[in-house]
Amino acid sequence: MMDEFSFIEKIKPKIYHQNKLIKGIGDDAAIIRMEEIDTVVAVDTFVEGIHFTKETLTPWQIGYRLLAVNLSDLAAMGATPHFYLVSIVIPDELRDADVIEIFTGMKKLANEYKIDLIGGDTVSGKSLTITITIIGSVPKHKARLRSHARPGDVVFVTGTLGGASAGLDLLLKCISIDCSEHIKEKLIRKHQLPNPRVQFAIQLQEIERIALNDISDGLANELIEIAESSKVMIEIEDDAIPLSSGLHYFPRERIDYYKYFAGEDFELVGAASKTDFVKIKEIAEQLGIAITEIGFVSYNIERNGKVFIRKNGVIQPLQKKGYVHRRSREKK
Ligand code: ADP
Ligand code: MG
Repeated sequence: MMDEFSFIEKIKPKIYHQNKLIKGIGDDAAIIRMEEIDTVVAVDTFVEGIHFTKETLTPWQIGYRLLAVNLSDLAAMGATPHFYLVSIVIPDELRDADVIEIFTGMKKLANEYKIDLIGGDTVSGKSLTITITIIGSVPKHKARLRSHARPGDVVFVTGTLGGASAGLDLLLKCISIDCSEHIKEKLIRKHQLPNPRVQFAIQLQEIERIALNDISDGLANELIEIAESSKVMIEIEDDAIPLSSGLHYFPRERIDYYKYFAGEDFELVGAASKTDFVKIKEIAEQLGIAITEIGFVSYNIERNGKVFIRKNGVIQPLQKKGYVHRRSREKK
């Protein structure tokens, strides 16, 4: 491993974008000054062998994807991102060039959203582990909480679902399907380079109330979180859920798993009033983002906190299976 000083010199931004920054990399801690806004902070960790392997992500993609996942958490709060910090555990066998590549992957997204790397920590250890802390802001009272859904709301999702997990299965070779290499490549890219809905979330700031979650652990899980925190019932139309293109080549039960439980697409799922949904659709359209109404929120003493799926005219409760499935796949 190159010495820590020259490493930090290499990853240190040449210019900072944010005027909220008082002191970036180079002292014992960074300093930011935030006024008249609500500060939003999130953290995520990637561990080699658990969240990625040499087969699934290149070093550049590791950096890109981890920062994308963090940005998605901020988008799900409706926040504008400003800063990030990176704590990295570097194993001896990792090449210096690969460590720099990880940071270069992050920098690609950082430049796109004009956010600044303002600090972190670097230590050596057994397995490559990277933790990103991200800092952003929302205007006062505009954070998009899970508890914000109300009876009568429209439930919607951005983009298409299932593609990222299908892509991961292709990468891990735990499934083989009969379709063109081009389609497979597109699904694999959805896993490797997720597209967080940062700009969309920022543009929504004019709207008074929206409940939002990003789909990291599967649509079922995210919807149940909204239904539970908002103490409402959610009903979803199975047919309405937009699937990533190429998914129809996969076996039927696999598609259902991708659609409801696999997650990792980092799209947004939300609930808003019918009137606000008209504005939300306009905003999505301006940004060229697909948005689909998939269901509605209602109030039912016996069913509040639960999510129901209507499929071929039959209504069934939706279970929170996402996490369990994912863990069992990771252990393989
Ligand atoms: P200290 O000994 O005060 O903790 P360090 O030597 O760990 O300082 O870090 C020096 C500077 O470099 C600090 O500003 C720190 O935030 C930054 N830094 C260290 N590691 C990283 C990293 N992996 N990513 C970004 N900044 C880092
Ligand atoms: Mg330190």
